[in-house]
Amino acid sequence: MGKYIPLSVPNFEGNERKYVNEAVEQGWVSTGGAFISKMEEQLAEFIKVDNVAACQSGTAAIHLALVDTGVMPGDVVLVPTLTFIAAVNPVKYQYATPIFIDCDDSLCLDPKKLQSFCEEECKFVNGVLKYKSKIVKAIIVVHVFGNFSDMEAIMNIAEKYNLKVIEDATEALGTYYTDGKYAGRYAGTIGDYGAFSFNGNKIITTGGGGAITAKNSKTVDHLRYLSTQAKDDAHYYIHHEIGYNYRMTNLQAALGVAQMEELEEFIRRKQRNYERYAELLADFDFVKLLPFRQGTCSNKWFYSLEIDRNRIKTNMREIISVLESKGIQSRPIWGLINEQKPYINELTYKLEKAPYYAERILNIPSSTQITNDEIIYVVDTLKEILTGCANE
Ligand SMILES: *Cc1c(COP(=O)(O)O)cnc(C)c1O
Repeated sequence: MGKYIPLSVPNFEGNERKYVNEAVEQGWVSTGGAFISKMEEQLAEFIKVDNVAACQSGTAAIHLALVDTGVMPGDVVLVPTLTFIAAVNPVKYQYATPIFIDCDDSLCLDPKKLQSFCEEECKFVNGVLKYKSKIVKAIIVVHVFGNFSDMEAIMNIAEKYNLKVIEDATEALGTYYTDGKYAGRYAGTIGDYGAFSFNGNKIITTGGGGAITAKNSKTVDHLRYLSTQAKDDAHYYIHHEIGYNYRMTNLQAALGVAQMEELEEFIRRKQRNYERYAELLADFDFVKLLPFRQGTCSNKWFYSLEIDRNRIKTNMREIISVLESKGIQSRPIWGLINEQKPYINELTYKLEKAPYYAERILNIPSSTQITNDEIIYVVDTLKEILTGCANE
């Protein structure tokens, strides 16, 4: 083939160059300019909310949400461990304490363990959930690889124990419920806050960028205010709160406006390519292509294979490097956050599935540009490698 098939790369088939040139020619490259509000409007319309604030990154979005919850140093925030570390680092920015909860077979936070942690390990007194002497303030829920978490169960728990819910929808722009209580609702619009990312490998990109929405439109205005140095009077430099330099730039938004025009097409391609992989892998029982939650329409951003480790006598590193030598980029799922150096002393709760999946998930190429022939090549190569090191 002689070609390299990347895991997930940006797609600029639309108006990207035109709009970025416009921004440069007009001289509006920084945190003011029409593309920023245009992108906010497009996003709000797409996910069916009133108000979205564009910012510098998904990490910044999550940080702003945490600041707004009023989380104090030492407060507890319940978080997943099998996810990208940026979902949890903002907890530390606020000197709060993460407690790591397990995932279920969807790779998202397990609501049963979340419930049993709150019920069995904590006390709920006068509307406040306490773990020992600490206040439990919030839950960060990540919709892993575009797969919607079980929001009905999670919101019930959050309501019962008075916890704020921050949805990390950085990987799930465009995912929505088709059935149940939240039918028609998009990822990031069910909890108190929803964070999005437009980093280079996400479903749309602004180079680096993100956005934040909230249940209440006034909250979004406040988040936008915090993201622009908390200016109460821009002219006379009056500030009533500690702000951040987290606003998206017009240059980023120019790219973003063009990407938003293509988002629906990108999702269609991700879904179609997933179906192709599913057909080609259906008869190959060394791996299982993980499904997306029933009752939802996922953006199918990233595809995950669960490798049956009993069938093969090799490890993930070797599989990945052989794929690489054949021109196919793949990657393992993240290392558990609770095992990373800054987090090794933090509390975990009944981690079973997270370590299980951490050793078995392989992500395979999912760019919107991938061709049918490339998908066939990826699958054939994978079958060849794995059957070549079969146990029997
Ligand atoms: C990408 C990502 C983030 C962070 O987004 P950035 O825009 O890169 O800061 C956070 N959480 C998850 C799960 C992500 O995949």
